[in-house]
Amino acid sequence: MKLRIAIQKSGRLHEDSIKLLKECGIDINNGVNKLKTEATNFPLEVFFLRDDDIPQYVEDGVADIGIVGENVVLEKSRPPIRTVEKLGFGKCRLAMAVPRSMEYNSIKDLDGQRIATSYPGILGDFLAKMGITAEIHEISGSVEIAPGIGLADAICDLVSSGSTLFMNGLKEVETVLRSEAILVANDKLTAEQQQLLAKLIFRIQAVKKAKNNKYILLNAPNDKLSEIIGLLPGMKSPTVLPLAEAGWSSVHSVLNENEFWDIIESLKEAGAQGILVVPIEKMVI
Ligand code: ATP
Ligand code: ZN
Repeated sequence: MKLRIAIQKSGRLHEDSIKLLKECGIDINNGVNKLKTEATNFPLEVFFLRDDDIPQYVEDGVADIGIVGENVVLEKSRPPIRTVEKLGFGKCRLAMAVPRSMEYNSIKDLDGQRIATSYPGILGDFLAKMGITAEIHEISGSVEIAPGIGLADAICDLVSSGSTLFMNGLKEVETVLRSEAILVANDKLTAEQQQLLAKLIFRIQAVKKAKNNKYILLNAPNDKLSEIIGLLPGMKSPTVLPLAEAGWSSVHSVLNENEFWDIIESLKEAGAQGILVVPIEKMVI
């Protein structure tokens, strides 16, 4: 019995998908131009597919699980298949953009306009929710050139930095959807497949937690210890070890990436020295 996972064959999600499996301790032979392969140390079969096809394959049970952008799932699979985990990579947004020369005040300015997109489903829902009637032109690629060639007045397309929009004389005016890569699953997995999936999710969560946290080591004068320990959240409470030099201790703890800079500042102010911050590979709480 194996769990079958569909991932993107090539493109923006391919490498990060493979990397995630690797970080989960799953080794796969990633032969070029292969349709499928098997993990050598986990009961996992990997299918390499176009991202657009992944929701359908998972829905039909040809693959049991898949890694794909939330945007693709919402567009291709209605109602969407089961999301089991957000993966934290492939972040982008589906956004509305108009020519820079257009005076844009609110979404009402799109009423009666022609909007080009590869996401007619998501866009249709969004416009309906906003009470806007517009003509949706579905095109499959290079959406950003549509206004320039007179095919549309506005576009709705995926954006990460916005540089493609800028180069095409467009400005972003509305966010339709925020998206990232997600792990989706067929909802009729056998008990055994569910067990394998649970194992995989456990590993993915450990990898994700580790990425959001850092291990911190510092030296503290003993008379400042309680103040310094008070600043550190830690998994339980910080580890404190005596240094060879009398009157000093080494303090070890775990810090969340988000609170990181603020805490480092306060630690220095409180008298901490020799602060080391190191990445964590896996974290199980
Ligand atoms: P395929 O050949 O598999 O159909 P594609 O060309 O449709 O590939 P990619 O451009 O590789 O797709 O994008 C795959 C996914 O990466 C998108 O669906 C989206 O979830 C995510 N993504 C992240 N950033 C961006 C971006 N700036 N532009 C487009 N997609 C992005
Ligand atoms: Zn695609």
